[in-house]
Amino acid sequence: MSLDLYIRFRPDQGERMEEEKRVKRRIVLVPVPAQGHVTPIMQLGKALHSKDFSITVVQTQYNRVTSSKDFSDFHFLTIPGQLLKEQGDHDEVVCVVYDEYMHFSKAAAMEFQLPSVVFSTTSATAFLCRSVLAKVNVEKFLIDMKDVEMQDKLFPGLHPLRYKDLPTSAFGPIESMLRVYSKTVNTGTASAVIINSASCLESSSLARLQQELQVPVYPIGPLHIAASAPSSLLEEDRSCIEWLNMQKPRSVMYISLGSLALMETKDAVEMAWGLSNSNQPFLWVIRPGSIPSSEWTESLPEEFSKLVSERGYIVKWAPQMEVLRHPAVGGFWSHCGWNSTLESIGEGIPMICRPFTGDQKVNARYLERAWRNGVQLEGELEKEAVERAVKRLLVDEEGAEMRKSVVDLKEKLEASVRSGGSSCSSLDNFVNSLKTKNFMHQ
Ligand code: UDP
Repeated sequence: MSLDLYIRFRPDQGERMEEEKRVKRRIVLVPVPAQGHVTPIMQLGKALHSKDFSITVVQTQYNRVTSSKDFSDFHFLTIPGQLLKEQGDHDEVVCVVYDEYMHFSKAAAMEFQLPSVVFSTTSATAFLCRSVLAKVNVEKFLIDMKDVEMQDKLFPGLHPLRYKDLPTSAFGPIESMLRVYSKTVNTGTASAVIINSASCLESSSLARLQQELQVPVYPIGPLHIAASAPSSLLEEDRSCIEWLNMQKPRSVMYISLGSLALMETKDAVEMAWGLSNSNQPFLWVIRPGSIPSSEWTESLPEEFSKLVSERGYIVKWAPQMEVLRHPAVGGFWSHCGWNSTLESIGEGIPMICRPFTGDQKVNARYLERAWRNGVQLEGELEKEAVERAVKRLLVDEEGAEMRKSVVDLKEKLEASVRSGGSSCSSLDNFVNSLKTKNFMHQ
């Protein structure tokens, strides 16, 4: 039954009680069709489904996640389609939750007089940065960002972030990025903002964000702990688990740069040298196409294959959560995407941080300076620095200290999604707010 039909339907009391039993409240999710966005929004779907909502996921013809048995009860709607008219029978749509980068969805929701809610798949600190950047004096900011000496200076009001840690994009000019940010942080007619983070990670950024925004902010993460929902868009190579089974406890460096980051050939070679010289085994995810000029690894020099075959294992895509959970893994070399960051902390694994673009730089700085469970590799990548960083994490006393602090954080994260924890309560508050009449106008 479409939404229109449901509103017109006026059953008598007996029928109405029957009807109420059958009518579920439905939430429409609008993800960005990219791995780092699809994964957390599907987890959010699972969390809301567990609160007895029906879920519709709007997706493109590409990057579908429909096949998984984990989502057998979800309704998937492929664009082009009629967004809100093809709901499951008898369900009442209560709101549209859209990824902040799908900001145009709020206009579509308004058309149907439905409340909309922003879902941010990044940290609260990165959101706060975007909000600050959306208001900078563009001319002055462009001059500052070109000034090499400014790069190491702290950005006013965003301690411990420096100019070079700001979430600027490697994919386009600063001006267009600032325009995008001003659209994403403008919540407009949206009624609330949901963030995949927890107050134990970034309470002051969350408090500031709440002051900046006109609507309630709900930190309900980490969603991968609260509501795990496997939604890999690429095929996972599970052979690496067998390889991990043969390695010593906490000896392996796991390397993955996520679904979008790229790597220069010379960096790949320096990494291979450094990893090899560290004498530690390593599992390396090299996504096809992630090294420009190479389909996979075939155009890399001969020495690369030799170094890797000595003590490494390469896959095109790994079951990351399973890898991080494996007792043989002792460290994670990451581009510091927010999902990878949360997943690594959630498994108590210290990190080597080598951010590539955007919010990854914010996360890397926080890992090193705020949470103290990461080592950031900055500047030119050289084999000596790689070797040192790997040893610091896997061999030295310093690595043991970092592990202690990350395990401490892991426990706090787990507590936050348990009953009575801050994220668990925040999710309940969000769900309760959906029941209030003035949700749309708060
Ligand atoms: N991931 C994976 N296998 C891999 C590499 C990454 O399953 O070999 C997953 C990872 O667990 C994470 C997501 O892909 O959930 C990457 O998201 P993230 O925010 O870390 O980075 P992005 O891809 O958005 O840059």
